[in-house]
Amino acid sequence: MTQQELPGTGLRGPFDLVADTIEEELVENCPGAYALGFIDNFGRFSITFVGSAGEDLKSILKDRIGTASQFKFRHFAQPQQAFEKECEMFHQFMPVGNFLHPGRPTGTDWTCPRCRR
Ligand SMILES: [Zn+2]
Repeated sequence: MTQQELPGTGLRGPFDLVADTIEEELVENCPGAYALGFIDNFGRFSITFVGSAGEDLKSILKDRIGTASQFKFRHFAQPQQAFEKECEMFHQFMPVGNFLHPGRPTGTDWTCPRCRR
């Protein structure tokens, strides 16, 4: 049950949020989206925070070590896909750690696929 996939996340995992695992699972210098969380009493992955990286998801996740016990992720070829995935997860899961709507990266005119912000 620990490998159970939440409906709609489309992310791989969960994995332990530790340096060795990040090193093994993620590609260098590749955009992506991620969810942080923990395994609840029912063996489900409970999301506490979502985010994305336009350039290097691996380094972003390393910076998050210590803020959660588990993570899920997915690499994307294009930074805009990673941003849109972050937006979709923000609306779908409303993580307790995300106080604000994901911000559009500087220099882009990308809009959220859910609310067009
Ligand atoms: Zn939105």
